Amino acid sequence: MRQSALFTKTRREAPKDEVAKNAQLLIRAGYIHKEMAGAYSFLPLGLRTLDKIVGIIREEMDAIGGQEVHMTALQDRKNWEATGRWSDEAVDNWFKTKLKNGNEVGLGFTHEEPLTALMRDHIRSFRDLPASIYQFQTKFRNEERAKSGILRGREFLMKDLYSFNADPKAHEAFYERAKQAYVKIFERVGLGDRTFVTFASGGSFSKYSHEFQTLTDAGEDTIYVDPKKKIAVNKEVLNDEVLKDLGVERSDLKEEKAVEVGNIFSLGTRFSDALGLQFKDAEGKSRPVIMGSYGIGPSRVMGTIAEVMADDKGLVWPESVAPFGIHLVALYDEAGTVKKAADDLYEKLTKNGTEVLYDDRECSAGEKFSDSDLIGIPMRYVLSEKTLKAASIEKKDRRTGKVEMIGL
Ligand code: ATP
Ligand code: MG
Repeated sequence: MRQSALFTKTRREAPKDEVAKNAQLLIRAGYIHKEMAGAYSFLPLGLRTLDKIVGIIREEMDAIGGQEVHMTALQDRKNWEATGRWSDEAVDNWFKTKLKNGNEVGLGFTHEEPLTALMRDHIRSFRDLPASIYQFQTKFRNEERAKSGILRGREFLMKDLYSFNADPKAHEAFYERAKQAYVKIFERVGLGDRTFVTFASGGSFSKYSHEFQTLTDAGEDTIYVDPKKKIAVNKEVLNDEVLKDLGVERSDLKEEKAVEVGNIFSLGTRFSDALGLQFKDAEGKSRPVIMGSYGIGPSRVMGTIAEVMADDKGLVWPESVAPFGIHLVALYDEAGTVKKAADDLYEKLTKNGTEVLYDDRECSAGEKFSDSDLIGIPMRYVLSEKTLKAASIEKKDRRTGKVEMIGL
């Protein structure tokens, strides 16, 4: 993409009411636009990064047999009444609205209820199991505080997968595979070394759920990390019994602030019982389906990467999620030789599939470099009169600052 054609502009200051570092940087670099507290629009650069995160998650969900769907955000109250989650007393962050005929509908904050109801049409016998279904979808939550930028939106993207198994053993096996898939996802997006599988409350269906918590001061959770075992315990469940279960010593644990980037849950038969999702086993006996749910917020992941990797000059993206792999910055000369060489190079790179943002704007070198630092593309190629004379490009690593001359 030619930067002169990119409609977004970088800016020096973020909006005054924006207090979160992730959103400040993403707004300044033109990745997102703040509509109001907790509601952000994704602009071309931001959408490219979000799509890359989504792509990585999709690959890992497909690899464990997930089948992708896209469900409606509008929620039929009867499914939620069946599980006792329709009332505002039971769930305090519902967005609800009314149809013209006066009937209330909800905007989905999660999708256990409608998917369980949907699966009644498709799961009849043990032969229809196992199944794992996922989607990427806009979720709505009337969050009380929305001060953390895209870490906590009132509208946000979620990947939610739901598993359906015939018995607890098959469920456990799938749950473990999903957990490993999550570990891979966070490694691939560049958060592996600071993301911990964290034991959290499991509700009434299993002793624990597992959160994936990424260390950052921007996080709202407190966790206790065992760096050697690479696990953590959420403060909410920290007690002697948990320590014993995990075989960790209290003195080995370090208190840290973290953000929950993912969460996996055993649901048991809570939803299948309430909504009547049953199958016939080999003996022809009806039994409830065992379920699990597995969530990740791609937009929260994007905000977390922005938050933890940025430096004082701006954003720093890992290659796997950067909007472009190379930022080609051309410093034009009067004669137009640099322009010609840069145009040629851009053509060649894009032709062989390299994703390049080409700064072809007529502006100062200083402006180009500071914009490039702010946008945070992992590799910068500078082409100038000076580098051209040496038939080379100056290659600079955004993260390490390491500069290298490479042959043109
Ligand atoms: P939190 O405790 O941070 O509010 P949660 O436990 O309510 O999160 P889940 O219901 O487990 O979140 O949702 C699954 C995933 O969706 C989370 O792990 C997170 O990545 C993402 N997520 C949840 N709420 C938000 C939000 N308001 N904005 C962005 N992402 C979110
Ligand atoms: Mg959670």
